[in-house]
Amino acid sequence: MMSTLLTDKTATELAVLLQKREISAVEIATACLERVSAADAAIGAFLGVDADDFLAQARASDSRRAGGAPLGPLDGIPVALKDNIAAAGQPLSCASRILENYVSPYDATVTARLRAAGALVWGRLNMDEFAMGSSNENSAFKPVRNPHALSRVPGGSSGGSAAAVAAGFSPLALGSDTGGSIRQPAAFCGVAGMKPTYGRVSRHGLAAFASSLDQIGPIARSVADTALLLEAICGNDPRDGTSLAVPVPEFVNAVAAFDCGAARGTRGWRIGVPREFFAEGLAPSVRAAVEAAVEFYRMRGHSIVQVSLPATRYAVATYYVIAAAEASSNLARYDGIRYGRRSDAATDAVNIYEKSRAEGFGDEVKRRVILGTYVLTSGYYDAYYLRAQKVRTLIRDDFMRAFAEADFLLTPVSPVPPPLLGVKDTDLLAQYLADIYTIPVNLAGLPAMSIPCKPAPAAVAGGDLPAAFQLIGKPLDEMTLLLAAREYECEHPFPPPAPGGAPIP
Ligand code: GLN
Repeated sequence: MMSTLLTDKTATELAVLLQKREISAVEIATACLERVSAADAAIGAFLGVDADDFLAQARASDSRRAGGAPLGPLDGIPVALKDNIAAAGQPLSCASRILENYVSPYDATVTARLRAAGALVWGRLNMDEFAMGSSNENSAFKPVRNPHALSRVPGGSSGGSAAAVAAGFSPLALGSDTGGSIRQPAAFCGVAGMKPTYGRVSRHGLAAFASSLDQIGPIARSVADTALLLEAICGNDPRDGTSLAVPVPEFVNAVAAFDCGAARGTRGWRIGVPREFFAEGLAPSVRAAVEAAVEFYRMRGHSIVQVSLPATRYAVATYYVIAAAEASSNLARYDGIRYGRRSDAATDAVNIYEKSRAEGFGDEVKRRVILGTYVLTSGYYDAYYLRAQKVRTLIRDDFMRAFAEADFLLTPVSPVPPPLLGVKDTDLLAQYLADIYTIPVNLAGLPAMSIPCKPAPAAVAGGDLPAAFQLIGKPLDEMTLLLAAREYECEHPFPPPAPGGAPIP
C-alpha cells in the first residue's frame, strides 16, 4: 500500500515526484521539519536543526529545477548528518561537551559532494560521544530512543542517524562506522546501513576516532536509496591520504536494473556462513531471523557454504587495543587551546589541559584515552599494541581465505535484539562483546551492509523487535552486497518508518 505521508517516502520515490513536479523541495523540507517538531522530543535523534539554512537550500533546489537544470536525482533530497561530519557554518560537537560551542569552518568532502549533487544537507544528529559506544547513551547531551520501541536503545554510535531515518525525519542520513556504528544502529532501527570498504569514502572532515578503522556510510530505507547515497559520497580525495584511487561503480543503475522476476538460480552466488558467528551467545530471535535469511537465499538457488574465521575470538580484544590507541592520539588535539572548551578554572598551561579535558570528556572517552595511552607506553607497546596489529593481519587473512570459497558472507549484525535503555551501565563488558560480528569487518577493511529482515515470530523472546542480517563483501565489492540485498528486498520490502508524521500537501 502506498503511504500517503511525504515523510514515509524513500529518496528514490521523492526524486520521481520532484521530477514530475508533483512536489517541491520546500514541501519535503517542511514536512521533515514538521515531523521533527512533532516527534523528536520523544526520540532525541537531533542535537540541532538549522531550519532557515535547510529551507534556503530547498528554495535553491526548487529554482534550479524551475530553471530546467536540476543537478541529478539527489537534488532536493534531504540528507541528515551525524554530528561528527563537518558542514561549514554548522556546529560540530561529536556529542561532547569539549566541542559544545564549536562551529565547523569547512565542509567535509562528503558534505561538499552532497551539495554538488543538490542534496539538502541538514541537521546535527545525536551520537555516542566521539562515536564511542553502541547504545547512544554516551551522548553528553541526551540519549536517543528507538523509534520502533521507545523504551529501547537505537544502537550506536550512529543512533541519531538510524533513528532519524527510521522515524521518517529524513529519508537519508550519513553515519560513521569504526567498529559497527552504522550497521548495528541500522539493525536495531529496522533500516539499511552500509560501511563501505576502507578508503572508498573520504574521511576528510570526519572528526577522527580511530583513523585506520573509521569510514563514513549511508543509512536509508531501501536498497536503491542506499546505492543513491553511497554513489554520491564515494570517490578518490587527495585530502585523505588513505582514500583509494579507484573508479566509482554505477551502483544506482545496477540496483535499478535488477530483475526481481529473474528465475531461481539465475545468479548463483556462493554465500559463506561463518561457523564462529553462529556460536553460543546468539539470542534465539536473532538466530531465527538470520537463519530465515540464509534459507531465503538457499531457496533462491544460491549455494550456502560453511566457512571458518577462527581468529574471530580475538577480534574484540584486538579492536579495543587498536581503536583506543588511535583514539588517545587523535583526541590529544582537544587540549583547551586549539579547539573547543577551555576550563574557566584553569590557572596555568598544564592545568588548562588537565581541567579542560577533565570537564570536557565523558567517562567512556576518558576510559578509552587512558587505555589507549597505556597500550602505547614503552614497555607495553610490544605486548599489546604490536601484538594487536599482528592479530589484525590474522583476522584479515581469515576473511581472504573465506572469500576463496564464497562470494560474500552472511552473518548476524548484533547477537542481541535492541536492549532497554540503562542496561549498559550495569554491564559495560557485555556491550563491548556485543560488537563481535561487526568489529572484524573494520579490522579487515571490508565493505558490509546491515539489511532489515523479517523478525522472528513474536513467540520467540525479542521476536517483535526490528531484526537484521549482515552481508560482508570482498574489498571494493559493495556492488554484490547491494544486489544481494536487493534480491532479498524484492520479496521482503523494508519496514516503513515508525508511525506519525505529516500528510502529503
Ligand atoms: N561500539 C564500538 C565502540 O564503542 C564501535 C563504535 C563505532 O563504530 N564508532 O567503539
